[in-house]
Amino acid sequence: MTSAWGADKSGVAVLPPGISVLERGWLSSNNVLLHGATPEEGTVLVDTGYASHAEQTLALLDTILRPNEALRLILNTHLHSDHCGGNALLSQRHGCPILVPPGEYIAVSTWDEEVLTFRATGQHCTRFTPAGKLVPGQTLHQGGREWHVHAAPGHDPHSVILHEPSSGTLLSADALWERGFGIVFPELDGEDAFDQVAATLDTIERLNPTVVIPGHGPPFRDVSTAIRIARERVDYFRREPERHAVHAVKALTAFHMLEVGQSSRDELIDWLTSTPIFISTWRRFFSLHGLLDWASELLDQLVKAKVLLASVEGERVVLRVRDG
Ligand SMILES: [Zn+2]
Repeated sequence: MTSAWGADKSGVAVLPPGISVLERGWLSSNNVLLHGATPEEGTVLVDTGYASHAEQTLALLDTILRPNEALRLILNTHLHSDHCGGNALLSQRHGCPILVPPGEYIAVSTWDEEVLTFRATGQHCTRFTPAGKLVPGQTLHQGGREWHVHAAPGHDPHSVILHEPSSGTLLSADALWERGFGIVFPELDGEDAFDQVAATLDTIERLNPTVVIPGHGPPFRDVSTAIRIARERVDYFRREPERHAVHAVKALTAFHMLEVGQSSRDELIDWLTSTPIFISTWRRFFSLHGLLDWASELLDQLVKAKVLLASVEGERVVLRVRDG
């Protein structure tokens, strides 16, 4: 299973047999399919995208699953809304259970949106019920391969990653992307987590994967460069944590705009100044300025950077997220 796969002529990483990736973008995480050795074994799906994309995810899966092949299991690397929003629909349609990281099992079983952070971020997720836990140290047997579950705190304290040694494949979730990693959410709450990000990068380096399938973006094989870039970034954020906070609020605003498509500037200011994660981040890092001024400046910067496009419609300024 370690043989002739590498990169195709376009430089895109070719995946080991039996593994498919639906590369989705930013509102929805990638969906990774670990096919069974036979269609009857069933397929394991890792992460299910954002709630508003659930029907699209279901339809995309139908284009990849073979005849007679259904999902037998859904796994979540972590419970951010862009990774578990399709859980409810997909588990219902395929009649399959869901496993979640152990640290969030109780919160998700009782659907505590406060602890699950959907309320804090102003994001949405359809309620689902987990059947069990995806525990670090556990091995998942699928399609003749053995997937090892590893803890990967940092971006999210409860996140796990999955590694398959014989093919050298790593599902890195938001712990490592080709260029960076996901927002380090605990840091926005004043909890030290950059050390955990660095320790998780050490874990990934020790695993020495041949190909990484990240939570967002294409699979990649130049893992040492990705780890170097991620380490430089975490060192920079350690030195200047307010830079991380700026990056985080910009990314969360862009994510919201991907969800809603467009918004008047006034509505978006209202949303920013009433959504808990923005209020707490402003209070911790930027409260020398008033909250309204800060939110207004944030939007100006996103327009200047062309992340958002502004147009005047009658009396209103309308903001749209830039395509692509
Ligand atoms: Zn995440």
